[in-house]
Amino acid sequence: MLNTETFKLVLLGDSGVGKTSIFFRYINNEFFGSQFPTIGVQNMEKTMKISGKEINFSIFDTAGQERFWSIAPMYYRDAKAAIIVYDITSQKSFEISKRWVDELKEKGNCKVTGFIGNKLDLEEMRSVKSQNAQNFADENGMIFMEVSARSGENIEKIFYQIAKQLLEKP
Ligand code: GDP
Ligand code: MG
Repeated sequence: MLNTETFKLVLLGDSGVGKTSIFFRYINNEFFGSQFPTIGVQNMEKTMKISGKEINFSIFDTAGQERFWSIAPMYYRDAKAAIIVYDITSQKSFEISKRWVDELKEKGNCKVTGFIGNKLDLEEMRSVKSQNAQNFADENGMIFMEVSARSGENIEKIFYQIAKQLLEKP
């Protein structure tokens, strides 16, 4: 029997950046164009095998409460991992994601944080430069990646990288 370790992972970021889409892409490998089933609190689990171990992510997605003044710290305080998402076509969402980074540093207890630019399939509408985001992530010790919930590009990869770091870090 493999030992399974469970980590709570929270998805954070402005409304509309694609948090719920990333959640469904990762959990069920599906993408909804616009409308999602109405769900209250979204929490699902998914297990992966890595380096002979089993890592179970208990993933929490905010249900329309993502403006950060309306999310209570209790939602993320016990999370060991976070994915902070912005939309590469929205400079505003990038600024808001930076505020989330500060908030988590101040009140959270994450061991590993992913800093994610979503909607990579909309490259022609890009307004956030990769290098800016990469620099910001590096300065703050976060794993940076650009992904697309729509195409699925890099979605598995970011969760894998986070799991890997969780195992490596003491
Ligand atoms: P949330 O508010 O952060 O949970 O964002 P949603 O997951 O509800 O997505 C907001 C909108 O962006 C929806 O219309 C999605 O279909 C769309 N969306 C999400 N991810 C992507 C993506 O990777 N590419 C594109 N083109 N649209 C996306
Ligand atoms: Mg959502």
